[in-house]
Amino acid sequence: MTFAETVKFHGHACPGLAFGFRVSQVALAEISRSRDEELIAIVENNSCAVDAIQAMTGCTFGKGNLVFHDYGKQVYTFIQRNSGDAVRIAVIWPGLPEDEKSGELWEKFSQGDRSSKVMETVKARKAAKMKAILAADPDELFNVTHLRLTVPDRARIFPSLRCSVCNEKVMEPRAKIIDNRVFCIPCSEKINP
Ligand SMILES: [Zn+2]
Ligand SMILES: [Zn+2]
Repeated sequence: MTFAETVKFHGHACPGLAFGFRVSQVALAEISRSRDEELIAIVENNSCAVDAIQAMTGCTFGKGNLVFHDYGKQVYTFIQRNSGDAVRIAVIWPGLPEDEKSGELWEKFSQGDRSSKVMETVKARKAAKMKAILAADPDELFNVTHLRLTVPDRARIFPSLRCSVCNEKVMEPRAKIIDNRVFCIPCSEKINP
């Protein structure tokens, strides 16, 4: 899959997507597997990068072979389900060197300045960053480690219960039972904030 195809899936071209594209390339090269063997991705952020990973590796949220840990880290782990062969890819890229003027304008942007001068610089900076990520050597971008991991359980199917407040169905492990009544999470938070 080309970068342009991931852009089509994601909706725009951005540095985050470029990272996801490069991460997926490394993952697919480092993990040897036959076509029908399942790959699992564990992502530690929910940035634009994850869209490229879903499009390129076939690890998707809906299939249950994309696991999201909300750690706020640019770390991606891929596991082959059968063998437990895994590769951990951590982003180590230091970023583009900053000149004083663009640094100043970036600071203004962070403080909410959306003037055309600031926006132009931000746009140019993002484009330069994306280009650099796409062109960089993998060693400059990532720290890659091979490891062996046990695999998270397959997406399981659970019975559903009916919430006593909104009357909508909720998967059993996510239902709250309070005073022998069934609540979905949003309704339980309304009565018990
Ligand atoms: Zn994006
Ligand atoms: Zn409810």
